Amino acid sequence: TELKEREKSIFDTQCPFCSVQCKMQVVEDTDQNRRKTYTVIAKPNAASEGRLCIKGMNAYQHALTAERILRPMARVDGQLVPVTWEEAYERIKAKFSELCNRYGSDSIGVYGGGSLTNESGYLLGKFARVALQTKYIDYNGRFCMSAAASAGNKTFGMDRGLTNPLSDIALAKCIILAGTNIAECQPTLMPYFTRAKENGAYIIVIDPRETGTTAIADLHLKVKPGMDAALANGMQKVLLEEGLLDKKFLTDRTVGFEELRAHLQQLDLEEIAELTGVPSESIRKAANAYGKSSTGMIFTARGVEQQTDGYMAVRSFLNLVLMTGKIGKPGSGYGAVTGQGNGQGGREHGQKADQLPGYRMIDNPDHRAYVAGVWGIDPRDLPGKGVSAYEMMEKVHQEEIRALFVMGSNPLVSNPNADFVEEGLKKLDFLVVADMFLSETARLADLILPVSAYIENEGTLTNMEGRVLLREANRPVPGEAKHDWQILSGIADQLGKGKYFDFGSSEEIFNELRLASKGGIADYYGITYDRLRKEEGIYWPCPTVEDKSTGRLFESSFAHSSGKAEIVCVENHLPDEPTNEQYPLTLTTGRVLTHYLTGVQTRRSHTLAARDFESFVEIHPRTARKLGIKDASLVRLESRRGDIVVRSRYRADIREDTVFVPMHWGDIQNVNKITNPALDPTCRMPGFKSCAVRMTMLYPG
Ligand code: SF4
Repeated sequence: TELKEREKSIFDTQCPFCSVQCKMQVVEDTDQNRRKTYTVIAKPNAASEGRLCIKGMNAYQHALTAERILRPMARVDGQLVPVTWEEAYERIKAKFSELCNRYGSDSIGVYGGGSLTNESGYLLGKFARVALQTKYIDYNGRFCMSAAASAGNKTFGMDRGLTNPLSDIALAKCIILAGTNIAECQPTLMPYFTRAKENGAYIIVIDPRETGTTAIADLHLKVKPGMDAALANGMQKVLLEEGLLDKKFLTDRTVGFEELRAHLQQLDLEEIAELTGVPSESIRKAANAYGKSSTGMIFTARGVEQQTDGYMAVRSFLNLVLMTGKIGKPGSGYGAVTGQGNGQGGREHGQKADQLPGYRMIDNPDHRAYVAGVWGIDPRDLPGKGVSAYEMMEKVHQEEIRALFVMGSNPLVSNPNADFVEEGLKKLDFLVVADMFLSETARLADLILPVSAYIENEGTLTNMEGRVLLREANRPVPGEAKHDWQILSGIADQLGKGKYFDFGSSEEIFNELRLASKGGIADYYGITYDRLRKEEGIYWPCPTVEDKSTGRLFESSFAHSSGKAEIVCVENHLPDEPTNEQYPLTLTTGRVLTHYLTGVQTRRSHTLAARDFESFVEIHPRTARKLGIKDASLVRLESRRGDIVVRSRYRADIREDTVFVPMHWGDIQNVNKITNPALDPTCRMPGFKSCAVRMTMLYPG
């Protein structure tokens, strides 16, 4: 008992694996054989209500695994060998200075992540623009939220994941879940939807597959991948034809409806049914259910957004919201279901190529002057707009970017056209990766910098509701790993820019972030660590320390200067890469319950890895039999860009023209070797969710 008492430790933390940020307590104990045991106890926070999913229950495992990188590693004669931090910093200084002198400061690119804390994301943006003075910075959130963010900004004048608090879901009488598999990606949110159903809500799910989420649907629209915008167009047409419009709302609070009316009148519902693979009666039924309900909420996620018309696809769904006036009221609103742990905060504080903290725009002279003032630099020294994440990889190939600094991301697995990305990364003069593990990208690095894990790194994260939460650090950092902010400050110091990065804690960085965001769209000024310790998350915008928002946006006005929301006409866009005789199947990608993003962390959790230890391709048995493919066999899946080898999995509930592969594995199972790198013209989102492939049998199962 004495031994147990002495060695027992209890720490509170938050799960890092999605935007719900569920709270938990981990009890670390020692059994009679002196082996460590862990018990995880769910703790309530405002979003999770005391629930945890399997990822959260096992999230301690990867953080405590022996696979953590504990010392900086440098490539010497082709091998990665441990070096001191001093040596690591020296190498960075020497290489960055050499490249800057020869090719200019834009020869260095910075690549961030949507799982970083607000403080890390903010500091990474400042590091790129102030310490390196490069315009090339972007992050993996480009692949996550860029379509919804651009659509929200253009339609409402503001992008915040949910326009309502989660508690409003129970008040919605009709809910549309478009391209979102909440049951597997944000499982602890499911009770919000089942509660709404118990209250009489009619639930419509739009997805080419049956999933845990379609299990609660009253109506499942099995849309062809890539045809979501057209489907929403069809629903708009029905709303118009059947007079299911909120005319007062359209007149008082929107612009653009008359143009939309003329556009919809030209569309043909039967043609849309043909394009989308959804019968016209079902489209009519869905539109009626939503249009006639007294309240309603629409949620979109990557299924709609990861398209080469993702921006317009989201706007098509937002048209439905505005035509029926279902926003700004209890039980009525819109939500982009954020995938990454800090997908919301990650995009607000300057990791994006075109943005500065507080959602200020990098090409707006007033915004530049304000942020430069906070940073104590001349606005003329602030670099301009760079390019999106995948376009940075193209710049690498063009040798415009010659060194890359990657923090909290695994671009080799998360970018489309992965063979092209790998070729580029190998061509770099210098690749620095700050990570906890030897990820697929880190394996190619010239220098690896070990970082702290979520249980060791204090900081704030912004959940999908736009509610800022403080995650305390409750474990010591192992080995010689450092916090992101310590690494960035250390490098800046070496580069002679230390005075701009003179921070002693995350809280000090957050206080500068508050100031940098003050007066911006994502205004955090009124949020403090003190308040966060006392209150259960604080919604932005929060301009003063007295501010107490309900979390419901647009109750009387939208964020555009006119106060009105913008309706737009959306064309029925065909996927960029249609199927043909050579490539007859449509590939769509997504997640499974047990894994997060590229799997760098969850594949190192023994429980999660044991449950799903390899990738697979879901295929309809009829399609498989035509191709001579047996269940559980190794198959080759090829597109115009490359091929992968995965195991077949029969699914009678997937469309016969569609196959599905999850995105969590690298190397020969990396589905992004074959996905389409064509980009949305507005938000630069790649078309992950639809490309043409063929499949052949390799070894029978
Ligand atoms: Fe909660 Fe999301 Fe973690 Fe699951 S993955 S425990 S839903 S934060």
